[in-house]
Amino acid sequence: MSELAERFETHDPGEKLVAEKIRCDACPVMCYIADGRTGACDRYGNVAGRIVRMDPLTILDHAAETGAAMVPFVAEGEQWDGELINTGRRFVTAIGAGTTYPDYKPAPFIVSQEVEGVDLVTVVTEGIFSYCGVKVKIDTDRHIGPETAIVRAEGEAIGHVTTGEYGSQMLSLGGVHHLTGGSKAEGRATCDALLNLCNSKPVELTIDGGATVIVQAGKPPVIDGKQEHRMRVGCGSATIGMFATQWRGLVDEVVVVDDHITGVVSEHQAGKVLGWQDTGIKIVGRRSTPGRYFKVSEPGLGWGGTSISDPLSILGEWNAKKGARPGLSLLMVSTTGEQFAYYELDDDLKPVEQPFPERLRKSVNLIEDNCEPALCTVLFIGGAGGSLRAGVTENPVNLTRSVQGLKTYVTVGGAPVYVWPGGGITLMVDVTRVPPGAFGYVPTPALVAPIEFTLRRDDYVRLGGHEAEIRSVADIVAKGGEYLNPRRGPGAAASNPWPPLAQLRRAGSDGAG
Ligand code: SF4
Repeated sequence: MSELAERFETHDPGEKLVAEKIRCDACPVMCYIADGRTGACDRYGNVAGRIVRMDPLTILDHAAETGAAMVPFVAEGEQWDGELINTGRRFVTAIGAGTTYPDYKPAPFIVSQEVEGVDLVTVVTEGIFSYCGVKVKIDTDRHIGPETAIVRAEGEAIGHVTTGEYGSQMLSLGGVHHLTGGSKAEGRATCDALLNLCNSKPVELTIDGGATVIVQAGKPPVIDGKQEHRMRVGCGSATIGMFATQWRGLVDEVVVVDDHITGVVSEHQAGKVLGWQDTGIKIVGRRSTPGRYFKVSEPGLGWGGTSISDPLSILGEWNAKKGARPGLSLLMVSTTGEQFAYYELDDDLKPVEQPFPERLRKSVNLIEDNCEPALCTVLFIGGAGGSLRAGVTENPVNLTRSVQGLKTYVTVGGAPVYVWPGGGITLMVDVTRVPPGAFGYVPTPALVAPIEFTLRRDDYVRLGGHEAEIRSVADIVAKGGEYLNPRRGPGAAASNPWPPLAQLRRAGSDGAG
């Protein structure tokens, strides 16, 4: 049983209030927590009779933007002494801020800060996302499972294989149906897997009719126990186009084996332009356009994401009338350059493998050198719902309009997000850009993710923001908030910019909506 599942079992939200227990109301579970203990999610605890957020509030220091050294203004574990010793620009993230729940409460922190003459407000809260999931990109040519196949964690269905992308296999995991629409075990396994993936921890996933994959954000995938090293340079056809000139004069024919588009240089447009002679080769597969073949094999873990281990199995009879002759040389190579072999036709026009010639080694190495490292990418996707938006403004639809109108800049733990066009606030963020351990969960089950909205103060007031709750960064650093937790101040990642002032300045000149 997972750690998360154990907590589900041991926690009883319906437990009666007894004298030494106090109620946490930061989510619908409403745990009664004994002194010295934490609630079901471990995020809140009872410390000497008060509900305390157990992780520190994270305030990022953007000193790097000004070229100054990044000096944490509060080291891990230290208490803030009230001195503003670092002159870098700060950003109050929602990590450790606490949750806007129930709906009537303003967000835990509404922070004002003047930046280069622009008066800005950042509204921060840890959002509870029942509607959320992750999109996983796995850089590999290998076939990990058919499209729409079920993806499982701990034996439970938590998502599916979705359409593959260029050099990568894609998974869509989580979502409200797996979190809340199936059995209790399915919801727990989904929540557990999403939480670990979002916090950049490894998760083992099994795909029905496919492979077992260990996925960890920012790390190479491990497919059926084998670590992937490279993603392909391109499809077979693109590889032919990129390297045709390198092979000219060194070999009579080149086949780049690929599950999607296998390329043949003598027939390919690139070969024709360079004056490549016909070789009488025959590829077993569906010809798309000259020198480009689909479905040369079933998908699998072999050459170029096919199921084959012997590349000759995709070749038919050689045709002497169309250029085949004894001694004709043939290079076969995969799309990553990891597999390659060299052949010459014998007197019966059968390819016979020969020692790999030095003259071709450079071109094969060039394919490998042009391959990027294979990685797993995990994007958290979630929709900002009612209670979250109500914590920002009394009229939640105004926030949606402001975000869609680019007047409000959204971040997750200080990391930039992509907001989907159309209705609502559906956002995606690369979890490796979010500070470690930023994601949590509640056993409803749902994920908890930090979210910040930054906009001009005048815009905030106009859209019905909670003006009376606005505080300064210095005040928050010194006094904290409702949940009594300490503050910590790590340096912001250099790749995560401060909310772009140019955008917010422009927003102000358009008038607020
Ligand atoms: S699960 Fe966590 S947030 Fe929800 S009531 Fe319990 S301690 Fe509070």
